[in-house]
Amino acid sequence: MGHIVVLPGDGIGPEIVAQAVRVLDVVNARFGLGLTHSEALIGGAAIDATGDPLPETTLTQAKAADAVLLGAVGGPAWDGLPMSQRPEKGLLRIRAGMELFANFRPAILYPELAHASTLKPEVVSGLDILIVRELIGGIYFGEPRGIEGAPGQRVGFNTDRYSEPEIERIGRIAFDAARARGGRLCSVDKANVLEVTVLWREVMTRLAADYPDVTLSHMYVDNAAMQLVRAPKQFDVVVTGNLFGDILSDAAAMLTGSIGMLPSASLNSAKQGLYEPCHGSAPDIAGTDTANPLATILSVAMMLMHTFNHREAATAIETAVQHVLATGFRTRDIATAAVDERIVGCQAMGDAVVTSLEGQ
Ligand code: NAD
Repeated sequence: MGHIVVLPGDGIGPEIVAQAVRVLDVVNARFGLGLTHSEALIGGAAIDATGDPLPETTLTQAKAADAVLLGAVGGPAWDGLPMSQRPEKGLLRIRAGMELFANFRPAILYPELAHASTLKPEVVSGLDILIVRELIGGIYFGEPRGIEGAPGQRVGFNTDRYSEPEIERIGRIAFDAARARGGRLCSVDKANVLEVTVLWREVMTRLAADYPDVTLSHMYVDNAAMQLVRAPKQFDVVVTGNLFGDILSDAAAMLTGSIGMLPSASLNSAKQGLYEPCHGSAPDIAGTDTANPLATILSVAMMLMHTFNHREAATAIETAVQHVLATGFRTRDIATAAVDERIVGCQAMGDAVVTSLEGQ
């Protein structure tokens, strides 16, 4: 049992979400999950309809649901709006409104897509890392912030701040994740320069005593960026703050070669979650039926795992995705010139996953 609010959003959002919902419906029926879903507005679509990128009704429905499935927001039509009214603000507000403090971004390299990475295959093949990013604190939300002063002499400023409870709650969720995987957690900070991360390191070190089965290490963010592209397989789970996590998770995403393959989960302490692909609304290909829906489909698998605790249903989706890739189905973003590949559109990729699920 459970309810999911579906927020297609803008650009390719509605196309990829439609395929993910089909997949959800298939596993829902097959495993008798009893899940229901309803649609609401966010982003540019919500601005056009209501003037607000996150209408109150959307937030109310999202908070009352067990999970939210989101496509993507934004596009050139809304780029001229003031910062506070842009589609992306809807995303920041729903994350904060649902108190989604933990962002999980796995970077997994499917063997069939090893060529898609810009790194040498031996550096990335078999890559399976998880970046856990604190999502509603740190410099993106810290006060005071602003631009002040007389023209020509203005000063721009932001505040990076984390309290001990904020560090502890993201730390515990990351230790738990490491415990369920390879047992290694790397905490990334800049404790040689920033006091906020001196405190971060102290709290992580204190928590380690509660997780004797997890090996904790610390790394400065500049070194972490370097190590991610030098030898990414040294990592199992990485935990870091909002700003560093934003940058490192995009770098990790590119190790895998296609942003169209990467799901994400953002959770709160009640395990309510917002599940979305890592990519944006891709306005350059919107409406052409060429978008890759797999990141959104894999986000449904993460939802079944983290919010609904149904590992079997999640695995069924992951297996179906592996199967369609092994069978040669490719959307344009993950295609090469290989003869055994079959280039398909967004809808046909959804068909292939559904067919594979039904054949399991
Ligand atoms: P983007 O991720 O939308 O696109 C980057 C490139 O990747 C484009 O060439 C696009 O065609 C391609 N791409 C992305 N997803 C794809 C998919 N599923 N299949 C195939 N190709 C795919 O990033 P951008 O161009 O920097 O941003 C476009 C808009 O999206 C902007 O308005 C931005 O603010 C917004 N955005 C939203 C989110 C979000 O909703 N979470 C995240 C990032 C960017």
